[in-house]
Amino acid sequence: MSFDLVLFGGTGDLAWRKLMPALFQAFRHGSLPEGGRIIGVARDDLGDDAYRALIQERFEGVEGAKRPNAEEFARFAALLHFVRMDLSKPEDYARLAKALAERDADTVVLYLATAPGLFTTACEQLAAAGLNTPRTRVVLEKPLGHDLESNRAINATVRRAFDERQIFRIDHYLGKPSVQNLFALRFGNALFEPLWRREHIANIQITIAEDLGVEKRGAFYETTGALRDMVQNHALQLLCAVAMEPPIDAGADAIRDEKLKVLRSLKRWTPEALSQHVVRGQYTAGSAAGHRVPGYRDESGVDARSTTETFVALRAEIANWRWAGVPFYIRTGKRLAARDAHIVVNFQPTPHAIFRTPVGAGNKLVINLQPRDGLELHLLAEGQTARDEARRGAAQTLAPVQLDLDFDKRFGSERVGAYERLLLDVIAGRLNLFVRSDEQEEAWRWMQPVLEHWRGDAQGPRPYAAGTWGPSAASAMIARDGFAWAEEA
Ligand code: NAP
Repeated sequence: MSFDLVLFGGTGDLAWRKLMPALFQAFRHGSLPEGGRIIGVARDDLGDDAYRALIQERFEGVEGAKRPNAEEFARFAALLHFVRMDLSKPEDYARLAKALAERDADTVVLYLATAPGLFTTACEQLAAAGLNTPRTRVVLEKPLGHDLESNRAINATVRRAFDERQIFRIDHYLGKPSVQNLFALRFGNALFEPLWRREHIANIQITIAEDLGVEKRGAFYETTGALRDMVQNHALQLLCAVAMEPPIDAGADAIRDEKLKVLRSLKRWTPEALSQHVVRGQYTAGSAAGHRVPGYRDESGVDARSTTETFVALRAEIANWRWAGVPFYIRTGKRLAARDAHIVVNFQPTPHAIFRTPVGAGNKLVINLQPRDGLELHLLAEGQTARDEARRGAAQTLAPVQLDLDFDKRFGSERVGAYERLLLDVIAGRLNLFVRSDEQEEAWRWMQPVLEHWRGDAQGPRPYAAGTWGPSAASAMIARDGFAWAEEA
């Protein structure tokens, strides 16, 4: 099967940091179908050779095993081409059409890795140039809009140009190996299903913590913030993966129908919930990795009086038979104490205690997403040493132990990274790990009251020092329910 993968924004940050390395890994693993072309598109005046040289130069900075050797790069470079075009100029689309006609590939992937402001114009013009054939797939990066209304407007325009089955909305968290393993754990094993419900689960926590600040993307972040950047998409998709019912099969619509049902079941916001169950924060100066770092308002491209949130913690509930009453806590932020993304499923304690247990210890399943990925099952076991035995009182004390599933150890270098998997899925036309428009709109609909509440809230985000776990109000929020965040437990 031949393919043309057109990378709009082929010289940009995303193309370089994520897409090109993923394509190279797929090439190296032999999973990229033969006879393909990767066509970079940007306004820069580059030819094929200059584009190849640019990509080669960037690969030279890559450390370790991910760096291609000269022979490998030469073979990979033969796939690379470049078309100069300005997406805002209708006349430039003919140049792309001509380049695509030269090959007439079985599949044409149009990957919009460029400013979101160009998405609608690009889709309209691609259709006007006749580039929306049944063989075409279009890939859209986040963010798709900044609220419900703008998201609907973008989706409506894109759907005028392409059929929903041709539209691949990327959420790269869905491509992460641990998320695949969460699906495998839940729907390929019978062990957890009887426990996966309100009777046995006390609460679920989803944390996506970054230790970095906004780096060079201050201007972008000012108009986005943590809720739009991380919660609307990644965190809610993770919540769906944990909470959805078993789909009737592994097909894209069966999976997406179940995720949509979760989003529709999210309890709507009341004024009380908006004031009690959402905490927004903004980092101030502090320390990260032993260095003094500036506060958000001192970052370049950021307004000195900015009220953009760099941290959000919220409590959600799913109003259905499986989950009624179980709190789902979501937390994400920049300049936190660690780079750490995980989901913790905290099971109920034993109904009656005959052993002593350390405070905060209990049964939990931890799905680690980054920096390491894997699953940990936390149990309590008898682990007395001879010294403990001498001090033993009336009750026996149990110690926390952990069963670790280390996927790297089992599957090693054969494992496929998130963008690699997603790019291969687009080329193969598999929509399972991509977000349907109704899911995306439902996520925006649920978040819209939070955005509106903040707009009218004079208090603004709560400050937290860089290098900490966010404002103390986030701990107070969860403590009101009698629980604690994983690192506090
Ligand atoms: P970027 O570094 O600013 O790159 C933008 C790319 O688009 C460049 O190649 C640029 O090249 C090209 N471009 C800009 N205007 C153009 C036009 N009118 N016609 C044709 N090409 C044009 O942006 P980015 O960070 O890669 O982000 C791209 C998209 O991915 C955005 O939607 C962003 O929100 C999303 N995203 C990025 C990241 C990330 O980590 N960077 C993560 C998630 C999502 P020329 O200026 O030479 O035309």
